[in-house]
Formats: sequence, C-alpha cells, structure tokens
Amino acid sequence: MPSERLSPELITLPQGWIPALVRGAKGKCPRCGEAALFRKWLKPVERCSHCRQDWSLQQADDFPAYIGIFIVGHLLAPVVITMIGTFHLSAWLTLAIILPVAIAMLLAMLQPTKGAVIAFLWWHGIGAFRQERRAPEQKP
Ligand SMILES: [Zn+2]
Repeated sequence: MPSERLSPELITLPQGWIPALVRGAKGKCPRCGEAALFRKWLKPVERCSHCRQDWSLQQADDFPAYIGIFIVGHLLAPVVITMIGTFHLSAWLTLAIILPVAIAMLLAMLQPTKGAVIAFLWWHGIGAFRQERRAPEQKP
C-alpha cells in the first residue's frame, strides 16, 4: 500500500473551509470525503485509507471539548432560567434534570466537533498540516 498522499488532481478536495468542516463533522476524511476519519470514537486514523492523508499530524487537543461546552452551555442556559424562573423548580431538581442532559449532549457532539476542528486545522494549514488548494481553472 503506498504511503504517499494521492495528488489533489486524483481526489475531490472540498470547495472551501465550510465543506471541509462538514466532511470532518460527518466523520469523513476532510481531504477526500471518502474514507472514515475516526478509527475509534475520538481516535483519528493514522492515514486516510483512500487519499493517504496523514491525520496523525492533527493537534485538536482540548479545543473540541471547549467548543462543546460553549455550545451546550448556551443551549441549556435559557432552559435552566425557564425551569427555575417560570416553573419554580428547585435548584437541585433543575440540576438533576439538566446535568444528564448536558453530559449526553456533550458526548453526542464531541466526535463531530473534533472532526470539524481537525478539518479546520487541515484546511488552513495550521500546525503540521500543509495547506493545499485546488489549482485554479486554466482560462483559455
Ligand atoms: Zn482521504
């Protein structure tokens, strides 16, 4: 099996950073969109099995978790305010309801968020990634 990446002419590079993020969030290789990005829940593959992109270079670290906490916090804050302010639930009952919901939401969004962060890093050539773009169309 070759270890060199397929050249950009042989694969379909994303049209921009948002399509790359969507590929990553779906758990697909952001570069080619063909193969799986993760071999375990949060463990990316070493190399894409289709385009041979090296994903061991990624350094997403804790950033996906921070994004998840930010999003879940902003989604659940109005719910907490409504539960306590409008329905007059006790703080302990609110905590007992919200905490499992928050944990479930965080766990559900962690892999898509990590895929999107890896795609963002790759698209912008951040860290050890090399930025690559489709060659501009030749005009006659
Ligand atoms: Zn790939």
